[in-house]
Amino acid sequence: MLKGSAWIISVGNELLIGRVVNTNAAWLAAKLTYLGYAVRRIVVVPDEENEIVEAFRDAMARSDVVISTGGLGPTPDDITNLAFCKALGVEAEVNGEALRMVREKYESRGYPMTPEREKMAKMPPGAVPLPNPVGTAPGILYQRGDRVVVLLPGVPREMEAIFENSVEPLLKSRGPPVYFSEKVVVVRGVPEADAAPILKEVLKIDPRLYVKSHPRGVEVGAPLLHVHIYASAGSEEEAQGLVKKAAERLVELLKSRPGAEVSTS
Ligand code: ATP
Repeated sequence: MLKGSAWIISVGNELLIGRVVNTNAAWLAAKLTYLGYAVRRIVVVPDEENEIVEAFRDAMARSDVVISTGGLGPTPDDITNLAFCKALGVEAEVNGEALRMVREKYESRGYPMTPEREKMAKMPPGAVPLPNPVGTAPGILYQRGDRVVVLLPGVPREMEAIFENSVEPLLKSRGPPVYFSEKVVVVRGVPEADAAPILKEVLKIDPRLYVKSHPRGVEVGAPLLHVHIYASAGSEEEAQGLVKKAAERLVELLKSRPGAEVSTS
């Protein structure tokens, strides 16, 4: 069932001094696993050109899919796109479509274009910019042969939006088919924070499960959660079996809490 190997490269000094927790890598690792990829490395590197170049070269030599986060913004320490070009041994060029995306974001808010902002549109020849619905820096998609490399911004909301809109559909469409199954568990009377350790427990059942709670009520007073359970597997039956097992365990754990009302879709 596995579609291939994946490496995640997290770029940023803040990660290495412990100021920022690497939630992006955990989020991407769960997504990639669920999509049928085997994540083999999560590498964290500082905002230094040589280190980023080396990480991309290693990752591209040893995995099918490479996803980086961080270092796509306008400040001088944001150099991931330029370092990636160096790793490929090509000159960075301003991509017309990316430049249009960046310009539109700034000019619509009355800010002029500057060389620092133009830098966000630089990428290797042949790369494709991925629209950023939340922030300014587009993501970058580079495909060579069967290998896919994606560069995403560091801000989690931006990274997640670009991944879900542009990267997930592409990764889903590659390689042997992976079957998905989904179920929603509705729970009243348990605040999201109290449900979190229960969800964590359910996730332990199998790495191909993805469980996420969506608050729909008032956290204090009238908590209402929709818990989505997704699974991916090599056959539809297997995916459905995983979801069923996870839903049963989730319901059992939630019901053990006094005052909880639980129903499944
Ligand atoms: P932008 O293009 O929006 O400026 P960027 O690509 O330049 O983003 P960074 O400057 O590297 O991204 O990071 C921006 C912020 O995103 C960081 O200050 C940090 O709060 C958060 N961030 C970066 N990397 C991660 C990560 N791996 N996990 C969680 N948060 C992160």
